[in-house]
Order: sequence, then C-alpha cells, then structure tokens
Amino acid sequence: MIYPDSKGFYGEFGGAFIPEMLLPNIERLKSCYNEILSSDGYKQKLSSLLNDYAGRPTPLYEASNLSSFYNTNVWLKREDLNHTGSHKINNTIGQILLAKELGRTRIIAETGAGQHGVATATVAALMNMECVVYMGEVDIERQAPNVARMKMLGAEVRPAVSGSRTLKDATNEALRDWINNPTDTFYIIGSVVGPHPYPDIVTRLQSVIGIEIEEHFRLKTGKDYPDYVLSCVGGGSNAAGSFFPFINNDNVTLLGAEAAGLGEKSGKTAASMACGDKGVIHGSFTYLMQNDDGQITEPYSLSAGLDYPGVGPLHSFLKVSNRAQYIPVSDKEALDAALQLTRLEGIVPALESAHALALLNKREFLHGENVVITVSGRGDKDMQTYMREFNL
Ligand SMILES: *Cc1c(COP(=O)(O)O)cnc(C)c1O
Repeated sequence: MIYPDSKGFYGEFGGAFIPEMLLPNIERLKSCYNEILSSDGYKQKLSSLLNDYAGRPTPLYEASNLSSFYNTNVWLKREDLNHTGSHKINNTIGQILLAKELGRTRIIAETGAGQHGVATATVAALMNMECVVYMGEVDIERQAPNVARMKMLGAEVRPAVSGSRTLKDATNEALRDWINNPTDTFYIIGSVVGPHPYPDIVTRLQSVIGIEIEEHFRLKTGKDYPDYVLSCVGGGSNAAGSFFPFINNDNVTLLGAEAAGLGEKSGKTAASMACGDKGVIHGSFTYLMQNDDGQITEPYSLSAGLDYPGVGPLHSFLKVSNRAQYIPVSDKEALDAALQLTRLEGIVPALESAHALALLNKREFLHGENVVITVSGRGDKDMQTYMREFNL
C-alpha cells in the first residue's frame, strides 16, 4: 500500500500545481475525501454498486493454454468482464458517490477516446445527475460510437476547439468549467493523474483490483502472493490498482507496459517514462513528453486509451525508486499479443490490455512462477482496428 504525503507528493512527484482560482475546489475535496472514503456508509454503497451493478468481483482466471505456451503459470485478472467493458467503472462509481456525499448535482469529465466519458455518463445516468463531457473536436470525429453512447446515456458532449483539439485541450476545458461552477459541480478525473488528491482517490478506488487479486490468488494456490503483477499504463490507474497491495512486498515484481507506438525513437510514441522527462502536467509534477521549449507534445499509440502524454505521479515515483519497471511495448507487439490471447484462450482483449500481455515476450518467466496479468478491458471497441490490421 502507498499513500502520498499531506501535500500530495510521492517522493518528488505529484503535488497540486493549479491556478489560484481552482484552490477552493481542491482544498474542499482535500479536506474531506479521506473521511468520506473511509466512512462505513460510503464503503457500503460502493461495494454494493461494485458487486451488483459493475459485476464484481471479477475472476482471476488461470490461463492454461497461455501457461503451456510460455511454460510458466499465467493468471488473468478479468477487468474486461466489468459493466461497460473495463476497469474504468470502478473509478466513476466511486467518484460519483463522493460527489453525492459532497452534495454536488452536476458532473463534468474529460475524455480522449471516449472510454472514461462513457463510464462517467453511465454512472451519471444511474444517479440521475446532469453530465457534461469535454472532448477534443478531433477525438469526437475519430470516436463516433462512444460519442453516440454518451449522448444516448443523456450526457452532453462539448467539443474542445483549442490547441490540438485532443485530450489535453478537453482537460483544460473541464478545469475551466470547474472554476466557473465551484459549488454544484464535481469533476470526475479518469486516471491516477491531475492535482492532489485525485491520484490518491483514483488509486484507492482502483485498489479493489489488486485486493481481489491477492485474495483470489491465495484461495486458488494457497500461496500468499504471486511472483509478478503485470499491467498496461496509460495514466496508470489499472496498474496502480493492481500493484497497490503488493507495493510493500519486494518478493512481487511489478511490471508496467507503456505504449511505445511506432517505437521509442520514432517520435510517434506515448511512452512518457521511457521517452519523456520531468515537468508539470494537469497540475502534477511527473514524467511527461515535451519538446525543447517545454511544450507538451502530442502522444501517439494505436490504442486510444494509452495515448496520454504524461503518467500518474505514483508511477514516476515507483520508477525512480526502482520498485516497478516500465517497459515500452510497440503497436506491433501489442497486436501480436492480442491475436495470441484470442487464439489461445478465446478472449479478445482491449488493445491497451494487449500491451501488458506482450510483456510475456519481453521477459523470461520461469517454470513454476506465477504471473498475474490485468486484462484491463475487452476488445469490442477495437474491432475496427483489428479488422484492418488482421484483414478480417
Ligand atoms: C483507459 C484504459 C486504459 C488506460 O488507463 P489507465 O488509467 O492507465 O488504466 C487501459 N485499458 C483500458 C481497457 C482502458 O479503457
């Protein structure tokens, strides 16, 4: 388990580097989130929705065909089986309950590919709350099915028309909205990013993944912990949640897969830890990709959910303290891994999750070792890409 210090720092990373106008909102959240998250009433509502609405606990599946192929024991944490198709629902359920506790009536969110927007619009429909999702104009064109889904759920999708008209511009618009509507609005952030206390809130909400891994692994093997836990890292929320209970146990090797896109040296990449350096993005000091003038550069990955120019501060800290290792995985390697899982186990993974699966080829895992891989989402949303890439 790991928590930031009172100012929101994990070592040198994190903090809350925000415009002064945002201070009251952040201070309010900071002053009460701990108490709410640990209250019995909140915990009960959260676990009942996670179980009966999202479909938790998700299985820990021993993938015997994959295990035979790699001659090691491979376990899949099936976040793809959640309602709406990924781990993102764990976070949006938790944050909307937090919003209700704070008496807020209006929800805003940013989205890139639309996955977090859909997960937010879903819980807003469930709670009968007004919902505005900011999305770059370019992304709105690229992700028509998710835009339609958000609208069907009753959310308003507002285009961000400044800058490169993608995720970072949508985030700026959402922050501006929050500054203008400080009393009735709650901003649901989609990963372990943003100013303190968001990285801590989202890590704790996603820690249900790791806590279930630990419990199910013990039940199924009689052992206390696996040898490895592997996850993909966009902002880093499914990885943070999967790693959480194992962080203080050095017997467990933690591996994260960053999206290398066309390769680390190609200029078309989203591997912010391998290729970036330190700076401030979305109110947090962390690794990010920037040019020589300090401008944040546009990331690239075939998988829309990993296409983010920074990474949560917790991961920057785990990287520099050598507690976790982060390995770049290319588009091609992820595609191969997606096809392999589909053919060997009959599971079509999200392209994001396929990056974690590709690590099986990048490290040697020994006979008898136990390797847990978080399958963060299902591949339905990526079928267009798979059809094109595999000539289906
Ligand atoms: C959004 C998404 C990710 C990346 O987000 P993290 O915060 O890094 O977990 C990974 N997998 C899927 C399926 C996603 O939708």
